[in-house]
Amino acid sequence: GSKAVRRIFTILLIGIFYKIAMRAQPRLGLLTSCPDGEKAWPKKYPFCGGVFQSPIDFHKDILQYDSNLLPLEFVGYNVPSTDQFTLTNNGHSVKMYLSPTMYIRNLPFEYAASQLHLHWGNRNKSEGSEHTIGGKHFAAELHIVHYNSEKYPDITAAMDKADGLAVLAILLEIGPFNPTYEKIFRHFRNVKYKDQMALVPGFNIQELLPNRLDEYYRYEGSLTTPPCYPSVLWTVFRHPVKISQEQLRALETAMYCTESDDPEPLEMVDNFRHVQKFDERLVFISFHEGKLHDEKKKSCIYLVLCIKSPKCCREAMKQVAVLTFTFNFFLWKRNFPKKSKPKSKN
Ligand SMILES: [Zn+2]
Repeated sequence: GSKAVRRIFTILLIGIFYKIAMRAQPRLGLLTSCPDGEKAWPKKYPFCGGVFQSPIDFHKDILQYDSNLLPLEFVGYNVPSTDQFTLTNNGHSVKMYLSPTMYIRNLPFEYAASQLHLHWGNRNKSEGSEHTIGGKHFAAELHIVHYNSEKYPDITAAMDKADGLAVLAILLEIGPFNPTYEKIFRHFRNVKYKDQMALVPGFNIQELLPNRLDEYYRYEGSLTTPPCYPSVLWTVFRHPVKISQEQLRALETAMYCTESDDPEPLEMVDNFRHVQKFDERLVFISFHEGKLHDEKKKSCIYLVLCIKSPKCCREAMKQVAVLTFTFNFFLWKRNFPKKSKPKSKN
């Protein structure tokens, strides 16, 4: 009895110490982060407290399948290495300017590329995506911003118009090293501080996107930073892209919101906006919900795939058992009357 009590007490103590240690951590560092205080945004920027705000959480109740949502097509995304992109630290994110010769087809208008940037968490909490799926955060999120080049001459003219912008969102999670993302990340050391710039040789921007371009969430929302204009047609890809733990760490620790000569440098961390209320609106999806699961089940019929997953194997065995049983039952039913017939004749 007393042994168990002592053990529980020890566990509790460890737990309390752990909590205190975790809480003390940010204070131990001299540097603090630079949150913009998103709660105060609406005061200065009324749109931030308005309608159609982003990001949002994608959950079952608001999703609706739409068969008209075609895979997007990207024109001019494969940029030769002789061209160069400008990468900059704008004090809120790391941003790379893109050329309007890159554009998206298959949206209601033609949308030309303007810039891409990232949102991320911090080294202790790698949950920096803006959009969430079923309440789940991803490690980080890439945004590729486009403007309606059919109706407006440039992004400034387009950004406050209802049909002005189209943003592609790519969720990032930890996995193997990603050589394409490294083409941007390797320049972080040159844009550590606000207003610094670096040149990035051209590469195929489409390689930053997931392989599956046909499955995505589509809704009408806003910029996730002030002035929060409700002018964005969002495409959030269903499948995340993987970057390595080291690459994510580099993103989470490389930059400061402050200029290089600032005596009190502020780390650029947690530069994501929290999810916004989303009622009386729908998110359209280009895929059938739960298709991932169904596909797995279907493929389980083929025992060949058993080698790949024990869970799949169990499912396949179950299906084989059911089939065998049904088949035997059918045989038994067919044979039964034959056996009983001669008996009735006697
Ligand atoms: Zn963004």
